[in-house]
Amino acid sequence: MKYDATIEEFMEDLIERNPGEVEFHQAVYEVAESVIPFTAQNSKYERAAILQRMTEPDRTIIFRVVWEDDDGNIHVNRGYRVQFNNAIGPYKGGLRFHPSVNLSVLKFLGFEQTFKNSLTTLPMGAGKGGSDFDPKGKSEREVMRFCQAFMTELSKHIGQHIDVPAGDIGVGTREISFMFGQYKRLTREFTGTLTGKSLEFGGSLIRKEATGYGCAYFMEEMLKHTGDSIAGKTCLVSGSGNVAQYCAEKIMHLGGKVVTLSDSSGFIHDPEGLSEEKLAYVIKLKTRIRGRISEYAEKYGCAFYKDEKPWKIPCDLAFPCATQNEIHKPDAEMLISQGCRAITEGANMPTTVEAIRVIHQAKLLYGPGKAANAGGVAVSGLEMTQNSIRMSWTSEELEERLKNIMKNIHQQCVTHGTEQGGYLNYVKGANLAGFIKVANAMLAYGVI
Ligand code: NDP
Repeated sequence: MKYDATIEEFMEDLIERNPGEVEFHQAVYEVAESVIPFTAQNSKYERAAILQRMTEPDRTIIFRVVWEDDDGNIHVNRGYRVQFNNAIGPYKGGLRFHPSVNLSVLKFLGFEQTFKNSLTTLPMGAGKGGSDFDPKGKSEREVMRFCQAFMTELSKHIGQHIDVPAGDIGVGTREISFMFGQYKRLTREFTGTLTGKSLEFGGSLIRKEATGYGCAYFMEEMLKHTGDSIAGKTCLVSGSGNVAQYCAEKIMHLGGKVVTLSDSSGFIHDPEGLSEEKLAYVIKLKTRIRGRISEYAEKYGCAFYKDEKPWKIPCDLAFPCATQNEIHKPDAEMLISQGCRAITEGANMPTTVEAIRVIHQAKLLYGPGKAANAGGVAVSGLEMTQNSIRMSWTSEELEERLKNIMKNIHQQCVTHGTEQGGYLNYVKGANLAGFIKVANAMLAYGVI
């Protein structure tokens, strides 16, 4: 491919090389739109084919995972690890267990992770992995057997200086603990090769809160930049898993009112807003009992909208925290017409390219996931540091570091994303800031 390809030529080539991987194409397109005009003016990156190299993972590992259920039936799942880029540190990124997992989804996540990890200012490369295994409805023993079978193969490819996985959808502390136990058994070593561990064996305080807290802090920074704050605002949150729970908690701490939560079966609208007590109920419902968000509506007597998303509810701020592609163009139009002024993404790529275009045209504040949800991987990075120095920091110390990292990411977006006329394009800012650091490292290594 010629080095000075246009965005269209670049995408044509990428789609031809990665047929059918629609989520991956979407994630690359969003980056290419910012990076290609930049490299056209900075030919050292263009001539060294940096973006072409960055869109090809270092390696992709795909393996069979066989496990036995409680009734003695044998199941076969597929396991993956995409080691995307280790220019600035060991591969780092979560493991997702969900039936929708395929190579395209993991490549989009791994690619985005390259920019996100770069933005955190910590020395972390990018990877992502997981399986099409569905932990929902499985017994604890079945989840354990699956995790052990998965790690038996994955353990050959990871290590504290090579690749350090963490959690993501369907992978919380319980799954990380099963996998860490198996890793330790197989390798006979105790190193921080997984993050998101329990506190008793090397986990970090505030890791489970970090992505959600960081997302709310990022919104606060975006608003502060315009002389405003979360206090007194009506907020829509989607999802009700790890990220949504702690994003909602921090919004409440900062004085905002959270009126929605959702899951894959629909959303609840609680006009009075969440409280500490209601949130504790949600955390118990989703973490331990693995229940449905509709049960919240029954318990607190509010509306439940089956198979719908929360974006039609009037609000000031929106926090998509469930999964990819949950805000389409009509959703974005609805949010804007209902008065929404700012969106920050707790989830990865929850907004489609067409919806982002509408949001930018309406000049909303829009914090993309690779910047706004980087708090989780940042505290994972801090967990790696604590494991290396064999010390644990306090919650206060860690939260202060998290807050500073989110501020720093925001500042990088301001530096690289402010457009003529003053509009702050956070997508461009995050893409360029994330790109430049990794690209400079790759240039320094020569042609490899
Ligand atoms: P969880 O598994 O804890 O929660 C996921 C939530 O999203 C659940 O409420 C789930 O509903 C809902 N959900 C999942 N798939 C769908 C779907 N297809 N349609 C509607 N709702 C859906 O995951 P996390 O909270 O950890 O992750 C949420 C998002 O945040 C993901 O995009 C993830 O990649 C991203 N993220 C997570 C980080 C982390 O530290 N955990 C770090 C950075 C980003 P149900 O209960 O019905 O399954």
